[in-house]
Amino acid sequence: MLKQKAYALGIDLGGTKTLAAVIDVTTGEVVASARKRTRAERGQDFVSQRTIELATAAINAAQLPPETVMLAIGVGAAGQIDRKAGIVLDAPNLGVRNMALGDILHQQFNVPVSVGNDVEVAALGESLYGAGRGYTNFVCVFVGTGIGSGIVQNGRMYTGLTGTAGEIGHMTIQAGGRICGCGSRGCLEAYASRTAMTRAILAEIHHGRQSVLSDDAARLLKDGDTIIRSGVLASAIQQRDELVTEVVTDAADYLGYGLASVMNFYNPDGIILGGGVIEAIDLLFETAVHRARTASLAASARKTPILRARLGDFSGVVGAACLAAQAAGYAFPTNA
Ligand SMILES: [Zn+2]
Repeated sequence: MLKQKAYALGIDLGGTKTLAAVIDVTTGEVVASARKRTRAERGQDFVSQRTIELATAAINAAQLPPETVMLAIGVGAAGQIDRKAGIVLDAPNLGVRNMALGDILHQQFNVPVSVGNDVEVAALGESLYGAGRGYTNFVCVFVGTGIGSGIVQNGRMYTGLTGTAGEIGHMTIQAGGRICGCGSRGCLEAYASRTAMTRAILAEIHHGRQSVLSDDAARLLKDGDTIIRSGVLASAIQQRDELVTEVVTDAADYLGYGLASVMNFYNPDGIILGGGVIEAIDLLFETAVHRARTASLAASARKTPILRARLGDFSGVVGAACLAAQAAGYAFPTNA
């Protein structure tokens, strides 16, 4: 039997880039996409205009037949979300507060809009069409500007009492340690995020350590940029740069301890690791997996598969589109 296609638009609104894509929610296929830097520093109106611009670009590029219905629009935004009201409550990385993104997009496109947290929707994407297929209980951990995770329980996203479950990046892994963006100390994110790695590398270079990134570092500091691209880190490691290798190995170790705690505590069917740095840097993935296995209790260490996310950059848009389609009444076959 030929299954009828259904489409939804997914938007991944992140601190670095915004990605919009038309998704065939029956297969998870990305029909067309558009992306640009978010430019959070330009303010809230700019961010919402850019979101509309990219959504329009993706819809135009998809060239769906005229009779096709776009079911809904879903957004995964990097911040705290009021899911019911479709409001981005607080998103420091987006320079956004109390943004009624659901209303803004609904007014523009006249379809139902769902707004979720970026990590939550990315985990949903992996659950439905990525590495999580076939697992009913797992945790998806994404390493990027920060570190977040999505928890899937009995085939469904588990968001907790106040909707903030999965904040693995703010697990304390070093009592009294480095100050974290959340105001606390010693959080995993302050040790193993791409931001943390960047800071550690720049600080060492500033103190005179030699690295193939020394020239880049000067440029980065000048531009006020706070992130070294994943590809740049990967290439430095390939060139056997001692400093970058050391910093990435340290970060991976901390990440591994964090994963070990998750394995001990939740005993999931699997753990999925994603995010640009994980994809780009084998050393990070492999070292973290090794540490997680050696640091967790034997029973969970032996049994828990640790997989790479499969949808890459698209896990967020696929998940956001599926979230919206689900809210609009489309029924996915569940893992449970
Ligand atoms: Zn924190």
